Amino acid sequence: MARVQLKNIVKRFSTSTAVEQMSLDIADGEFLVLLGPSGCGKTTTMRMVAGLEDPSEGEVWIGDRCVNALEPKDRDVAMVFQSYGLYPNMTVAQNIGFPLKIRGLSAAEIEPQVMKAARQVELTDYMDRRPKELSGGQRQRVALARAIVRQPAVFLMDEPLSNLDAKLRVTMRAHIKHLHHALGVTTIYVTHDQIEAMTLADRVVVMSRARVQQIGRPQDIYDQPANLFVAGFIGSPPMNLLSELAASAAGGSDVVLGVRPEDLRVLPAGTPGALVDGEVFTVELTGDSTYVTLKAGEQLVTAKESKHFRAEVGQRLAFGAEPARCHRFDAKTGLRLPLMSPLHLPPCPPEHTA
Ligand code: ATP
Repeated sequence: MARVQLKNIVKRFSTSTAVEQMSLDIADGEFLVLLGPSGCGKTTTMRMVAGLEDPSEGEVWIGDRCVNALEPKDRDVAMVFQSYGLYPNMTVAQNIGFPLKIRGLSAAEIEPQVMKAARQVELTDYMDRRPKELSGGQRQRVALARAIVRQPAVFLMDEPLSNLDAKLRVTMRAHIKHLHHALGVTTIYVTHDQIEAMTLADRVVVMSRARVQQIGRPQDIYDQPANLFVAGFIGSPPMNLLSELAASAAGGSDVVLGVRPEDLRVLPAGTPGALVDGEVFTVELTGDSTYVTLKAGEQLVTAKESKHFRAEVGQRLAFGAEPARCHRFDAKTGLRLPLMSPLHLPPCPPEHTA
């Protein structure tokens, strides 16, 4: 286990800069998730920790040493990729034990360690199978077990679940979280899936266009997004960002008002002080809740209601929100502005369902 530090890292390729001035201090045993859309520099950042890319500037530290000059094999890290990277002709047991074999351990030394790792990912019933005889989730667990036997100082995981179907992803997510709890190994995990980031991370690093946008605990990033990018990226359905409709309520036309769907309340059309007044554009039932979207001017605004809520398309309704649940952003810089003054937005009237 080890602390990992990135000190003023920059990575330039011939045609682009993949990572701009990044500094991170990852605590020993922390689960840190790099989150962002495709091309934002997540994988490049992780590859610099692994030693598969050299930083153009800055230093990578693992434990108490700068590892810039060290080969990947000397960095004491184990990587798990989206493509499992298993040897097709080896059994599960041989795949898991392979890192120990190349370290020169004897079969008698390897076997108990392989069984221990296999138990940790619940693979003991499949030890003699070849990878092609396994499901995607089982293959990924072999890859995890192979990383575990190495007992590395750091796990590096690059979109390890993205080849799996939605249901398996949820199961494997739980496996990974449980493993981290059991092993306590410092983990850097790359994903573009915000739910994975929110559920797994001790801290999330949100990236966009080669830059860190925000670093924080999942709840802090959700409750206090630092800028418009983070506000729009975290949350499903995403935060409603109202540029013109509510400009006066938010305190001027250079302010964007943000309200999460769960913080909007449905009100009768024409309710004084409502944030949004419009026609029902769509009603979506998800099972445990209902998403109601109003079209107000050119903007679509979505509220999350109870699973019992019903409304007709075309019906006129309004949405209101408590001022304390609203976010304000500078329209020009995108940066978060201080909390709303209650003077700017009247409190919404008592709850009402259509
Ligand atoms: P994804 O989720 O699609 O994997 P990412 O956030 O991991 O995206 P990176 O793979 O780190 O993004 O790439 C960041 C940027 O650097 C991209 O614009 C990419 O095209 C560029 N890039 C990555 N590797 C190279 C390379 N070897 N040569 C040139 N440009 C590269």
